[in-house]
Amino acid sequence: RFIAFEGGEGMGKSTQARLLADALREQGREVVLTREPGGTPGAEAIRSLLLAPPGEGWTLEAEALLFAAARADHVARQIKPALDRGAWVVCDRFLDSSRAYQGVAGGLGDERVRALHDIGSAGLLPDLTIVIDAPAQAVAERLSRRDGDSSDAIGGRAAEYHASVNASFLDFARSEPHRFAVIDGTGSVDEVHRRIVEAAAPLWAA
Ligand code: C5P
Repeated sequence: RFIAFEGGEGMGKSTQARLLADALREQGREVVLTREPGGTPGAEAIRSLLLAPPGEGWTLEAEALLFAAARADHVARQIKPALDRGAWVVCDRFLDSSRAYQGVAGGLGDERVRALHDIGSAGLLPDLTIVIDAPAQAVAERLSRRDGDSSDAIGGRAAEYHASVNASFLDFARSEPHRFAVIDGTGSVDEVHRRIVEAAAPLWAA
């Protein structure tokens, strides 16, 4: 079974992915906890290229191809083999991040993002994608605690950008409800974790 976590920055995706992986392991399951972009040596190398772009930056198309290339390596070398042997895969970001960041925010469009995913990763989709959602104010406070007051999430234009990315994830969930669970990201880490376990429970009951 394949579970992905999505959401904007500061939603607690990484923490919640780790807690869900721990909970699944306690049930005696083999769990591969991984993240995007990254997860394999090749994909981590591409991650470094994305995080430290050349001086002139990447064009939108080159960036989308790099994300798709990292995902292709990650799927072929780690995710697919794990699923084939019956392990559970919990992944911090997956295709829907490319749809939100490159597709909607960047303006590449959903069709082209999905086409790259079809070519690179045979269109593999998670069984469940958990979108963590919280009001902008709560997220800004969390990010400023994490990153210090310099966090750009508090600034005007940046805040709008984050809000539009978050809205994209909610749109995706509304248009394909069978593939998503939207989780209220407010409250304590433990409260959010309990909501996620409840949403994912049908997967292990099946
Ligand atoms: O997972 P994390 O929150 O650390 O991601 C950091 C940033 O990477 C995101 O805020 C986003 O700007 C960028 N990203 C992206 N396209 C993706 C995945 C991540 O632009 N497909």
